[in-house]
Amino acid sequence: MSQLTSRVKSDFPIFTDSDLVYLDNASTTQKPQKVLDTINSMYTKSNANVHRALYSLGARATEEYEKSRKKLANFIGADSHKEVVFTSGTTESLNLLAHSLGSNLNPGDEILISEMEHHSNIIPWQQLAKRTCAKIQYIPITKDGELDFRQSKQLFNSKTKIVSITHISNVLGTINPMKKIGKLAHECGAVFIVDGAQGIAHKKINIKDIDCDFYAFSGHKMLGPTGIGVLWGKFELLNKMDPFMGGGEMIDKVTMTSATWNEVPYKFEAGTPNFIQAVGLGAAVDYLESIGMEEITNHEKQLTSYSLSELQKIDNIKIHGSAINRIGVVSFNIENIHPHDLAQFLNEYNIALRVGHHCAQPLLSKLNETATARLSTYLYNDEQDIDKLCMALREIIEYFK
Ligand code: PMP
Repeated sequence: MSQLTSRVKSDFPIFTDSDLVYLDNASTTQKPQKVLDTINSMYTKSNANVHRALYSLGARATEEYEKSRKKLANFIGADSHKEVVFTSGTTESLNLLAHSLGSNLNPGDEILISEMEHHSNIIPWQQLAKRTCAKIQYIPITKDGELDFRQSKQLFNSKTKIVSITHISNVLGTINPMKKIGKLAHECGAVFIVDGAQGIAHKKINIKDIDCDFYAFSGHKMLGPTGIGVLWGKFELLNKMDPFMGGGEMIDKVTMTSATWNEVPYKFEAGTPNFIQAVGLGAAVDYLESIGMEEITNHEKQLTSYSLSELQKIDNIKIHGSAINRIGVVSFNIENIHPHDLAQFLNEYNIALRVGHHCAQPLLSKLNETATARLSTYLYNDEQDIDKLCMALREIIEYFK
């Protein structure tokens, strides 16, 4: 076991008394006991609706919820906790932006995304383009699986109003050059959005360093609970935007015929928020910080290199993408074995690995595949997990001969 893994693995009850090899972390991550305890304690000791109740229990829940917002702001280097909007996850964060930021697009305006986006960062923009007669442009990818900037003069132009790019590809693991994209986006006056669903888990994020305008991510991919995520945005932009959903708590005054909005971030948090999950996410942040994001990045980088070198030794394997700057994710196909068969056989070895299009069909079609197998690691994985996978793959290949 690697040093980090041996330190942390026992913190995750799912691995107790189990030989589970969990290699599907790009889908969702396992939860440390501390996060589970926090959720349990919130339900058993501090459960009352937030921002409504005048009694102590409600005040306690509200305090924990707002404390978590501050932790999240701190974690990503935000100026103020007011810039942290709690959402249900990356998908809701991006839909919120497509709805509220996109409402002032005009026909012919351009939205720039890339060929390696998750459907969450494609569909909301397609829907927006349909509503506004705006046009979607794609930054192509190179054969190595990196963004291809050769046509950047044409792609980043005076019509470009929104640039929305994934920080790390959930299929190729490529780490995209965020600063460079931010610079190009801002030079043409566009708003720069980062899909941070994978980025937040593997790297220390500083939104000022990236120089983005919005950063969207999900709690469940960073050891937190499901149903909670964040949209971080620059205050002045959030302040100008219309709300996304209407309902309780997002309002200031309501009459029979009209309404005014609550202040940022509450105007984007209609209805009862997932406050217990938000507090659970705060506990995940505490846990990640106790390990140190730099240590997690180093561990992940080493494990990705190890995975690549071990997989390359397997006959008839095709590994997708060869970006130098990559982390956490390796997609592959094995000649004459459908990825779905592979996943079923791997399950017999108690190895959990995702196969399919990974919610990135345009990218898969660029790779000339309809499905790939994808291993994705995190801090509790180590070389032994990769060795077990490679051994199982060899046996399965033998079986299919
Ligand atoms: N973007 C990327 C790059 C992702 O990997 C994912 C999840 N696979 C999402 C967006 C969507 O995240 P969620 O389902 O948590 O909203």
